[in-house]
Amino acid sequence: RLELSRLHKRFGGLIAVKSFDLAVYPGEIMGLIGPNGSGKSTIMQMIMGVVKPTSGSILLDGTSIEGKPVYEIARAGVGIVFQHSRPLRLQTVLENILLGLLPDSITRLRPPHGARARATAIAEECGLGAVLQRLPATLPFADLRRLELAKAIARDPGLVLIDEPFAGLTRGEVSGFAALISRFREQGRAVVLVDHNVKSLVSLADRAAALYLGEKIAEGTPAQVMRDETVRRVYLGGALTA
Ligand code: ATP
Ligand code: MG
Repeated sequence: RLELSRLHKRFGGLIAVKSFDLAVYPGEIMGLIGPNGSGKSTIMQMIMGVVKPTSGSILLDGTSIEGKPVYEIARAGVGIVFQHSRPLRLQTVLENILLGLLPDSITRLRPPHGARARATAIAEECGLGAVLQRLPATLPFADLRRLELAKAIARDPGLVLIDEPFAGLTRGEVSGFAALISRFREQGRAVVLVDHNVKSLVSLADRAAALYLGEKIAEGTPAQVMRDETVRRVYLGGALTA
């Protein structure tokens, strides 16, 4: 369970996120939507430990994680899908997942019994079963994104954060990804997705929160959020539905 309370981020004179509250429960997909610059990535980066909040609290299963570094947050049970894939170029797909699975450098040299089997199972779950021994450079873009998902769930996180999950994917690939992310929910994980295009999240998210200039202007089911008067008014330019 993730609880954000009165989360605030200021960059110099700019308030990027203003007194933001949100709760996300196991087994649900929460979509954060909003036009460019509304604060979506800043919120994600504060949860990930990449950006330090100016004030406010972030609780993961009741434990405060705000301001902690990325590796501690990953260890606390948060899987992070970075927007830009950064696989190790000289390691195969399977080895890259193993590295996600085994954070400690000693165990990397001598993977414990069962680690390879677990990495293989994760690869298969993420649709990478046929490319286990390939090097990342030889993979199509969609498979690189699948590899990021596989690395993110390698340590069986209770919470998975995905910024712009569908960017750069074809229509067909998007539905495959949506199915995979739905499986994370079925496995009891809480998932937070960010997208500026509300349409891609509507069928996938259980709940959504809409942002505008750093503030939450609506929260509810995606259908409720899309019908919301304030949302319709401020997104009238089509920023959200383009
Ligand atoms: P997009 O849809 O374009 O990804 P977003 O909703 O993710 O937008 P953020 O990236 O969170 O928006 O940015 C929110 C505001 O904070 C913007 O005005 C942005 O310019 C500003 N901002 C973000 N990061 C920084 C930074 N490191 N330093 C200064 N300003 C920043
Ligand atoms: Mg962003």
